[in-house]
Amino acid sequence: MTETGRDTTVVIVGGGVAGLTLGNFLLGKGIGCVVLEKHSRDYVEQRQRAGALDANGVRVLNEWGLGEAVEGYSHGDSDAGVPLLIDGEERQWRMSGGDDEDEDDGAFCPQQILVRNLIRIFLRDGGDLRFGAQDVSLHDVDTEQPTVRYRDADGSSRTLTCDFVAGSDGFRGVSRTAVPDDVLTSSTYEFGYAWLSAMTQAPADPLAVLAVHSRGFAARITRGPHASRLYLQCPLTDTVEQWPDERIWNELEARFGRPVESRGPITSRQVVPLRGVVFNPMRHGRLYLLGDAAHLISPMSAEGMSLALHDADALAKAVVRQVEKNDSTLLDSYSDTCLNHTWERQASAVRMTQTMHDSGDTTYEGEFRKQIARKNLETMLEPAAPHAS
Ligand SMILES: Cc1cc2nc3c(=O)[nH]c(=O)nc-3n(C[C@H](O)[C@H](O)[C@H](O)COP(=O)(O)OP(=O)(O)OC[C@H]3O[C@@H](n4cnc5c(N)ncnc54)[C@H](O)[C@@H]3O)c2cc1C
Repeated sequence: MTETGRDTTVVIVGGGVAGLTLGNFLLGKGIGCVVLEKHSRDYVEQRQRAGALDANGVRVLNEWGLGEAVEGYSHGDSDAGVPLLIDGEERQWRMSGGDDEDEDDGAFCPQQILVRNLIRIFLRDGGDLRFGAQDVSLHDVDTEQPTVRYRDADGSSRTLTCDFVAGSDGFRGVSRTAVPDDVLTSSTYEFGYAWLSAMTQAPADPLAVLAVHSRGFAARITRGPHASRLYLQCPLTDTVEQWPDERIWNELEARFGRPVESRGPITSRQVVPLRGVVFNPMRHGRLYLLGDAAHLISPMSAEGMSLALHDADALAKAVVRQVEKNDSTLLDSYSDTCLNHTWERQASAVRMTQTMHDSGDTTYEGEFRKQIARKNLETMLEPAAPHAS
């Protein structure tokens, strides 16, 4: 049976960070929206991925009255207090001069906690969020009234007509495929190495440690009071089978140049190639792409969630302007605005990724690049403490 005609202003495809944030922003302004999420609530609330929000992301949440979504997870000046170990020697990041545009704190909020909070707030405030939406397809996005079809959790076919579609279904979602091939361009940069990324049920203390070492980059970052994520640079050809628990801990210790006391069971591991991808345009007709559906950024920057929040903020403001003032200016400039921001963040992510990796293992880029990267790294750090003679 097909049930037609439940109109809403925005159909949001994908209930991840981008889609749920957009949904909450619109709901707060009384604008109708429906969020369609492929997976179950239980699944998305357990899915562990990123964990860092920059100060801009926290500011955006606060501005829309959604600060409670990251309450208790602020961590002060984003890099201060995060030690960097260079060949085992502890160094501190240079404090910003205070003229930064972001005076707010960032947050170390595990992605599944942020998602859980965004779902709770959205449903509490009367939002329409449909889990288990299968076979979502987008139609007529280049007309005045796009349509979204899907099968609901019971297997019934549904159709939603709307004014706008927000494609926030991640890198492997379906929304982007509604943009014709001859319109959409994709730019990709491959760094040439990967991270072995592993979750462990043991806390990180301090909350984050980064290490540059001739064996390769390493890091440990908090994912809440009882868990942390471990990162080890490795060749693209490595497989998880080559990384048993003991090797992960030994390698972390070797690259940190100090004992790693807090060890727990490793609950998941994957090899993640480091790359940046940007799709252009981020708008086609009445379809607007946001978050990972529009771009991937090197995880070294820890900017994936923050970029998703930026796009949600820009699209929510644009829709509000259209609905409240019948003014399409912000919708018309959405793609350019977000692409400009995305490229800015990609530029800094590439700089940071190369500096942190080229400074260590010369297997990938050689000695010349290592020396250049070390000099660049020095400009970002407080002077080294003089060695006692
Ligand atoms: C495995 C993994 C590990 C990561 N680790 C880090 C990290 O350590 N640090 C970091 O900064 N960033 C990391 N990221 C990136 C970060 O998680 C993303 O940038 C962020 O989640 C982007 O949010 P999003 O809402 O755009 O996409 P997503 O979080 O991917 O949300 C998309 C949502 O759409 C849903 N969906 C997909 N297809 C459909 C469909 N056809 N119909 C309906 N719904 C659909 C998905 O189930 C999901 O809920 C990681 C990403 C992945 C995939």
